[in-house]
Amino acid sequence: MLATRLPLASPAVRVGAPPALSQLTTFRLGGHPARIVDCDTDTQVISAIADSDRHGRRILVLGGGSNLVVADRVDDLIVVRDRRSAVHASVEDGRVRVSAQAGAAWDALVEWTTAQGWAALAPLSGIPGSVGALAVQNVGAYGASASDVISLVRAYDRATGQVGEHPAQTLAFGYRDSALKRSVAQFGGITPRWVVLEVVFDLGAQPQPDAVAPTPSPSPPGAPADGIGRVGAAYDQPAAEPGTPATPADPAFSPGAAGRVGVAYEQPGVGCGGPVCGIGQVGAAYEQPGVGCGGPVGGIGQVGVNYDQLAAALGVPVGSSAPGAAVRAAVLAIRRSKGMVLDAADHDTWSAGSYFTNPFVTPAQAAALPADAPRFEAAGQVKTSAAWLMTQAGIGRGYGIGDRPRVTTSTKHVLALTNRGGANAADVLEFERWIVDRVRRSFGIALTREPVLIT
Ligand SMILES: Cc1cc2nc3c(=O)[nH]c(=O)nc-3n(C[C@H](O)[C@H](O)[C@H](O)COP(=O)(O)OP(=O)(O)OC[C@H]3O[C@@H](n4cnc5c(N)ncnc54)[C@H](O)[C@@H]3O)c2cc1C
Repeated sequence: MLATRLPLASPAVRVGAPPALSQLTTFRLGGHPARIVDCDTDTQVISAIADSDRHGRRILVLGGGSNLVVADRVDDLIVVRDRRSAVHASVEDGRVRVSAQAGAAWDALVEWTTAQGWAALAPLSGIPGSVGALAVQNVGAYGASASDVISLVRAYDRATGQVGEHPAQTLAFGYRDSALKRSVAQFGGITPRWVVLEVVFDLGAQPQPDAVAPTPSPSPPGAPADGIGRVGAAYDQPAAEPGTPATPADPAFSPGAAGRVGVAYEQPGVGCGGPVCGIGQVGAAYEQPGVGCGGPVGGIGQVGVNYDQLAAALGVPVGSSAPGAAVRAAVLAIRRSKGMVLDAADHDTWSAGSYFTNPFVTPAQAAALPADAPRFEAAGQVKTSAAWLMTQAGIGRGYGIGDRPRVTTSTKHVLALTNRGGANAADVLEFERWIVDRVRRSFGIALTREPVLIT
């Protein structure tokens, strides 16, 4: 078993009066809540929620704050933050399973698993937010969805007060949707009925021992002593100094659970200078348990490439597969070019990501759209593109309304509404209404907001 603790999705706050939620949301919107309750154990998470529910308080379980539009006046709101971010990986029934606590930063998990040579999460690189919210929202990008890799969710049920395990097939995952998300409306419109405590991912079949390449590659002189290749906070790796503390003080990290992992572990791109692991195939350069760089390329170290733009960036056909680290690097580059990787200096990333979901329309509505409108068959309906509809309705990149708009579409990506500085939720909602109206008048299609609105 491997274990580590990842960075949290939500930053530390100073003790004292709670900061404004504008400091804890990527759209930088929202006033001061009544209280922020930080929880270091799942018992604390559960009792904070149960307590607030018992007293009829409005609760926001806050992850990375990357899918929220929050009003200025929220001083009745209790904010609960899960500060647990332990991750364990093990092989069960021949498959690699990774369980992650809900407060962990999602992209840190992608980085960590990719560094182990497990490629499955790589297409979902660069998405902000927490592991817990990812399952609720069934986050997706570049031809992949969280539901492709989630096998189980452990959650606290606010209705019954029980903690239960929910296999993925019981969660009714859909496009940016799940049974968890649908329960939000039922419970006051802010936080779901089920609060996710832990998510288990199935990263694919572990290669058989006969696939092992016998010769571990030495690290070159001058290889960095720290960084992505040294995840060893909670497990022993050959590179660790003797006596390096291996286990952070967290009940989830029993030394027995972390165990010793007697496998070679390589820095990215290190030790595989041969043709198999060239610069375009960095992912294959990771030695994963049981697979050496000289071993077969494929299996758990590779992931399907199911999106045109990603395939083009990697120089492979759609439907093929590529090494995880190469996919991650390509996805991050594409996302950066669209302002979809958080960057405090770039107002194009002061957003909640894509603001509208892609609409599903009837075949008749789809037939009435211009010939070049994107159309994807989906269970008797047709999914079209919100970005295309907006653009065709005359709403381009960097577009805003009024003289000095504080909210505009991103200058890199029309579907992201962005805070140009000093905006509040009212500005966002005014622009949202304007866009929805404009698209409806142009195409008779109603766009739907993706982020959660807290007024
Ligand atoms: C720059 C940028 C790019 C983005 N790109 C993408 C993308 O490519 N694809 C995509 O799908 N989304 C994308 N998003 C949206 C966002 O990152 C995701 O929806 C993400 O999963 C939200 O996670 P969070 O932890 O920030 O949730 P928050 O914003 O903190 O919360 C959102 C909702 O989830 C609930 N929640 C949080 N934690 C839990 C929990 N443990 N249990 C139950 N409910 C919980 C909250 O109560 C709230 O209802 C992007 C956002 C930004 C800002």
